[in-house]
Amino acid sequence: MQEWVRQALRCPTCKGKLFDHPGYLVCRACRLAYPVRDSVPVMLADRAVSLEELS
Ligand SMILES: [Zn+2]
Repeated sequence: MQEWVRQALRCPTCKGKLFDHPGYLVCRACRLAYPVRDSVPVMLADRAVSLEELS
């Protein structure tokens, strides 16, 4: 993902900063990981998984 895209993204729930995780963008405040599909982040709360589910 291009850096400017990642920088522009915010958690849709808390508007917080997101962090890279392989295949995901992670909100540490919400403890949610948003999947990235074909380089496109899926910024939907109902598609997010909890950090505990990530290995
Ligand atoms: Zn959040």
